[in-house]
Amino acid sequence: PLIDFHLHLTYILYGCIMNRQRCVMDCSAIIKKIRDLAGTAPDTVCFQRGSDTFTYGELIRRADVLTAEWLRRFPGRDPLLCFGSLDFEMIVGFLACIQSSRPYIPVDASMPADRVKTIRDTSGCCGIWAAAPWPFEEESLPVFSAEEFGLLPLVPAGENDRQPVTGDDIFYIIYTSGTTGLPKGVQISYHNLTGFVAWILSDFGLGEGRRFLLQAPFSFDLSVMSLWPALVSGGTLVTIGKDAITDFKRLYSEIPELGLQVWVSTPSFADLCLADPGFHEENNPQIRHFLFCGDELLHRTAEKLAARFPGARIFNTYGPTEATVAVTQVEIDSKILETYERLPVGTAKPDTQIEILNEAGLPSPDGVAGEIVIAGPAVSAGYRNDPERTAEVFFRYNDLPAYHTGDAGVMENGMLFFKGRLDFQIKFHGYRIELQDIEQHLLKNPLIADALAVPIYKDFKVFRIVAYLVAAAHDFESEYELSKSIKKTLAKSVPDYMVPQKFVFVDKLPLTVNGKVDRKRVTEEVNPA
Ligand code: AMP
Repeated sequence: PLIDFHLHLTYILYGCIMNRQRCVMDCSAIIKKIRDLAGTAPDTVCFQRGSDTFTYGELIRRADVLTAEWLRRFPGRDPLLCFGSLDFEMIVGFLACIQSSRPYIPVDASMPADRVKTIRDTSGCCGIWAAAPWPFEEESLPVFSAEEFGLLPLVPAGENDRQPVTGDDIFYIIYTSGTTGLPKGVQISYHNLTGFVAWILSDFGLGEGRRFLLQAPFSFDLSVMSLWPALVSGGTLVTIGKDAITDFKRLYSEIPELGLQVWVSTPSFADLCLADPGFHEENNPQIRHFLFCGDELLHRTAEKLAARFPGARIFNTYGPTEATVAVTQVEIDSKILETYERLPVGTAKPDTQIEILNEAGLPSPDGVAGEIVIAGPAVSAGYRNDPERTAEVFFRYNDLPAYHTGDAGVMENGMLFFKGRLDFQIKFHGYRIELQDIEQHLLKNPLIADALAVPIYKDFKVFRIVAYLVAAAHDFESEYELSKSIKKTLAKSVPDYMVPQKFVFVDKLPLTVNGKVDRKRVTEEVNPA
């Protein structure tokens, strides 16, 4: 009987391994899988925004026409910048990029023009796909607008013309905040992405043909957690109307109409929805999975969700853009909620090693905090056109590509716990911000002699950013008028979420003994223990 039991176990394990391999293989041909779906189920809806729906058949038809156009217009493999909101045309643009062997760079239409220009200039992109109006009248690069696309003769790229991105080719480049004021372009390869998509589709029990919430803008890599897993598994991406995001009444009435099955968002967005007493299982009976990433999932958020959606599973996941969206996961069930006051971020995905390193760069034992280092096939090849910043954080560990996250963490029996940052990067409503990025842009304003941006925390989360400013000579009659002008100028060069909520004017900023601005002291003062 013991031998039987072992044999049985071997079969189970073998089955699991084969299943995982099958999924990796199934998901590995991302474009092929989507094309197959367009062939076998052309009328299945792949994207919905409000009452507008688009099918898989339409997606491939449009992408093929655009692919043909881009192969003709843009020889070579330089990336294209895709500019727009959560629009279907953006996805058409992504597919056309990939099918013409080039990465796409998603840039959200809400990004201020100065930042768009910086990304355009530093990325070396060869052209622009404007799913939303391109903000510059004069543009030396070719701009290809969605309207112009609508006028094209329908000549799709043939099978022999299409050369999809593959292997270690870069699939997408997402720009994220950088300490110098210049955003960093994280390059994610086809291999990086397929490992991630396979994991999402195999380890969370999502099933196929599901309706995924697409909440985060395409320029935030959380969107990748919905985008490719949904399309590869024959699902539908469901976005919330833009106005509804700022109009809570509309948001609350729209959500139950969406028929969502897989909820992917930042924890902050779930908090926003939980503020509506009507956000519960009875009104949203199809939701079976909540997937969170990008910011701390508070115990009280998970507890409330579990109480309101007893039939759904809640997952916390963790990871930086540099390691392809997420690399750990844990299901937040009643046992986890009972055991931990501050929730874990999970165990590493099977192909990934997570190590906690001390200041000397040596592994910390279980229970001892240090820097979270991620090693394995999820780790990016580095920042676009930026060998210096790439060399600072990317390295090899145990002969694997590795990344210094700058996150503090503790490992306990294979379970990872996030303990905050080792530097001055913050998360604000899920958005990643280097505080120095805000300061660099403030200091470009001649009205400001010195600047310091500090976060105010509430329950481990940033709920406000305050800028301490030393004003230069000015003619404003009040600090209020001065603040207003500074805010306005800043909003031209950084996204809205990077504009501090409050400006405090001081005569000088406190310095450390080394003569540097004492960021730690000010941060501690505004966040008393
Ligand atoms: P991003 O590159 O925008 O995805 O941001 C990555 C950073 O977000 C990580 O390095 C962490 O600091 C933070 N982060 C991501 N997921 C979590 C999580 N589940 N809990 C706490 N912080 C997180």
